[in-house]
Amino acid sequence: MIALLPEEYQIEINTEKYNQLVAEKRTIKCDFCTATPLLKDIYLQKLLLPSLTKFIVDNDFINVWECDSCTETNTYNPQNITITKFAEPSYFKVVPSPPAKRGTKNRMTYDYEFKKWFNIVMTEIEYQIGIYRADYQSQQSSGIPQAQEIE
Ligand SMILES: [Zn+2]
Repeated sequence: MIALLPEEYQIEINTEKYNQLVAEKRTIKCDFCTATPLLKDIYLQKLLLPSLTKFIVDNDFINVWECDSCTETNTYNPQNITITKFAEPSYFKVVPSPPAKRGTKNRMTYDYEFKKWFNIVMTEIEYQIGIYRADYQSQQSSGIPQAQEIE
C-alpha cells in the first residue's frame, strides 16, 4: 500500500530514524543569554568550592557548564531544563518496522505491539494520501495551464 503513493508522498520504514524523531528533546536554558542548547551537547564540569561556600551549599563541588553562545559559565540547574515531547501523530513520512515475534518473550504483548505499530503506519498513510489528494485537486482546479499544455 505504501508503494502505491507517488514517490514524494512515500513513507520510509526506518525504526532508527523514527525513534530519533519521536524521542523527547531535552534542552537547557542559559542564564545569561537566550541560548537553549541540547542537554546532551553541554559539557558538565565539576567546580570545586572554596571552604566557606562548601559549608553553605553542603557540597564539595557544583556542576557548571559553559554556554557556546555567550561563553558564560552557568551553574547547572535542573529547573532550567525543558523536555519537549513530539505530539502524535507527527507525520514524519517515516515509520518503524513492524514488531517481530520474539518467541515467548513478547507472546503476551505482540498483539498490542502490532496494533500500536499498525496505527502509526495507517495514520501516516492516511495523512500522506490526504496531502496527495489536496495537491492533486489544487493542480486540477487551478485553471492555470501547465507548461506542457501551452506548447
Ligand atoms: Zn549563553
